[in-house]
Amino acid sequence: MNTPLSERFGKPILNRFGKKIYLDQMTRKELEERVKECDIVILPVGSVECHGPFAPLGEDTIIGVSIAERVAYETGVTVAPPIFYGSHPSHHYGLPGTIPVRATTLIEYVSDVIRWLSNAGFKKIIVLNSHGQEYVLPIAKDVAIIEKGVHALILVTSWWSWVQDLLRKAGTGEEIAPGVKLETPFIHADEVETSVTWYVAPELVDVETLKKEGRWGVVRIIPAKYVNAAGNVFPDKPFNWYDVSHAPELFYYPKGFVGWPEKASPEKGKVIVETCVKRMVEFIEWLKKTYPPGKIPRTWIEIEDYFYNKPKEWVEPIEVTK
Ligand SMILES: [Zn+2]
Repeated sequence: MNTPLSERFGKPILNRFGKKIYLDQMTRKELEERVKECDIVILPVGSVECHGPFAPLGEDTIIGVSIAERVAYETGVTVAPPIFYGSHPSHHYGLPGTIPVRATTLIEYVSDVIRWLSNAGFKKIIVLNSHGQEYVLPIAKDVAIIEKGVHALILVTSWWSWVQDLLRKAGTGEEIAPGVKLETPFIHADEVETSVTWYVAPELVDVETLKKEGRWGVVRIIPAKYVNAAGNVFPDKPFNWYDVSHAPELFYYPKGFVGWPEKASPEKGKVIVETCVKRMVEFIEWLKKTYPPGKIPRTWIEIEDYFYNKPKEWVEPIEVTK
């Protein structure tokens, strides 16, 4: 008998209640049962992108799916198949293994997926980004609502947004957990990101090459005090990283990584991922309690609303301050 080549696709992956995590593994019957029980879905959106000679090209997607799977394991929410190809700013273009799609393509693609996840019964749709395209995805939310008539609560977030306090400590000498420090700021395919990958997918990191070749540096055209690095963890900087032109990676980072990933370790990754998972689980438990299956706040406007027609039913906002 053949054993499945890929456990992720060939073998049921179950949550702590013994039920399936992934939408693609469910039958229609299981889907219909799931949305009655819990209509929250996480849609991971990552990339296929060069992350240096020591890390997998799918790093971003692998990180996002791993975090989504852990959160789903704890909470019983569903994980949709990830969007594997992402959109990229201009300075990423050209490196072998980086496969960008245009931002407009991603917006159309993600908003279509949102539309039909909503049709399948998922009324809370969490778009979990894990690649430097956080400036693109909120547009997909609005395209879904305005142009595709989606009646759902759509939430766009990135994994690093859940651990900004930890990432702000990088390079300050402050510990993120007893005995664990991040030495350099989070950028891309660097100490932080490689640590996270090493923790979630240890077999996909080539540690020997990492230790030998994982040292480069950072190239700037504008001083760091003006421009946020990845994660936008410093709200007092006037530019986010995606607001300005950067030196092309192809010329200035020809190996496809930034900074000093040689400083990565799975212990650092563990603190970041476990903190992120814990905080996301806490949020989802709140979401489940506040908006039970089928119940959502009204987030859309229909044509007849413009004519002051009869309102439909909806849950009121939880807080109205006057
Ligand atoms: Zn990445």
